[in-house]
Amino acid sequence: MFYHSTRCPQGHVDSAQAVLEGLAPDGGLYMPQSIPAFDWQSCLGGTSLEMSAAILSALLPDIPDMPGLVSRAYAGKFETEDLTPSVPVGDFRILELFRGPTSAFKDVALSMLPQLLTAAKTVKGVKEDILILTATSGDTGKAALEGFRDVPGVRICVFYPHGGVSQVQRAQMVTQEGGNVAVCAVEGNFDDAQTGVKDIFAACQGRALPFRLSSANSINIGRLAPQIMYYFRAYRDLLDSGKISLGQEVNFSVPTGNFGDILAGYLAKLLGLPVGTLICASNANNVLTDFIRTGTYDRRRPLVKTTSPSMDILVSSNLERLLYLLSNDTALVSRLMTQLKEQGHYTVPRALLEAIQSRFWASCCDDVRAAKTIRRVWEAHKYLCDPHTAAGWAAAEDYVSETGDGRPMVVLSTASPYKFPAAVLEALGGDTSGSEFAQMHRLSRLTQVPIPGNLANLEGRPERHTDVIPKDQMLPYVLNL
Ligand SMILES: *Cc1c(COP(=O)(O)O)cnc(C)c1O
Repeated sequence: MFYHSTRCPQGHVDSAQAVLEGLAPDGGLYMPQSIPAFDWQSCLGGTSLEMSAAILSALLPDIPDMPGLVSRAYAGKFETEDLTPSVPVGDFRILELFRGPTSAFKDVALSMLPQLLTAAKTVKGVKEDILILTATSGDTGKAALEGFRDVPGVRICVFYPHGGVSQVQRAQMVTQEGGNVAVCAVEGNFDDAQTGVKDIFAACQGRALPFRLSSANSINIGRLAPQIMYYFRAYRDLLDSGKISLGQEVNFSVPTGNFGDILAGYLAKLLGLPVGTLICASNANNVLTDFIRTGTYDRRRPLVKTTSPSMDILVSSNLERLLYLLSNDTALVSRLMTQLKEQGHYTVPRALLEAIQSRFWASCCDDVRAAKTIRRVWEAHKYLCDPHTAAGWAAAEDYVSETGDGRPMVVLSTASPYKFPAAVLEALGGDTSGSEFAQMHRLSRLTQVPIPGNLANLEGRPERHTDVIPKDQMLPYVLNL
């Protein structure tokens, strides 16, 4: 099985090479030439680890010993052996993706990516170390640090905007342990940090360096593919609870930013899982809602800062993969992406829009409604959700009321409420004074929902990474690592 770029049908690489490279040389994203035949029914019979290994072996066949890699990535690192448990809440089922080592949904993918990357390195005979460079606005940095820490042959350096991440997120990163990690604050905002990282990639191109640069974001198929498992997990949970019989379709509502999570759901469907409609939930940054409803993608609008910051995004890179999958037309994808870059907008042909709308539905939810939803779900069901999950819940409700579709609904929960204690406390009418740690404890007293261990024991831990540099010093910083 070969992979090629979403923007060009030539230039095949195998799956190990696709993981190693991340982005295709023409700027497109790697996709398999065809979706392999997959025994989805027997996959459903396994544990979460076995499901993960089966799915990843099918999509990344050139990477050997997948069960071993999966076990190294996950065993003993998540709160439950399910990795991603799900619970019935009202008429829906909530799939909890935040039970990993850093309480971020990104743990599912970023625990696995290092294993895939080092295995791909061995397959391809790459000798030099890989240096992962990441700019983070919060969650990705910590999840990547934890996933890559002490992985042999890899080093990781995370840049975050000085004063631009939450107290808890900063504490998570600056206390990071591991012999191969660096964390550094940059004087500037997230865009400055991200531009700085892009400039480092450009500056290092073609230069003889003792390491090979790579990134940890969801353009890499090795970060996307591990996310398919939890759709199978949720489906299996519905089967086990007697809510569905095998083959019955299930809808999923997905709080969406870069379109990686929801695309993994679509890949689950292509692998055979009976996935009904995928509901794309956004916050006030509703570019995707407009796109799925009208066929016009238009990023020419201001970015709104919301209480669900992981969805504050105007360009969702993995949407490119969907356009490719549904059109099978790399020339079209290439043209649309160029237009987006140069003019800030594009409109897809009618047939492609219809293909999208027959599989996806979209809705958005502003901060006020997210807060009301948090409160309502708490009061009605005693389930505490964070603002991202609340957007997913609200979109699921919109979908059911507008379409009357009665198929079972799974709402993906992408963050622990303790990652956003101020917004959640405020939604519940609680006192939001004091530090984020004080807020966490107050929220826990109010609701009796336990604080995840990794967040509860952060306060007072020694700070190991206190570097702060001007934004023009990022390249020298990396070269001196
Ligand atoms: C990253 C993230 C998302 C968005 O996921 P995508 O795969 O980028 O669509 C949603 N919620 C939370 C809490 C996240 O961290």
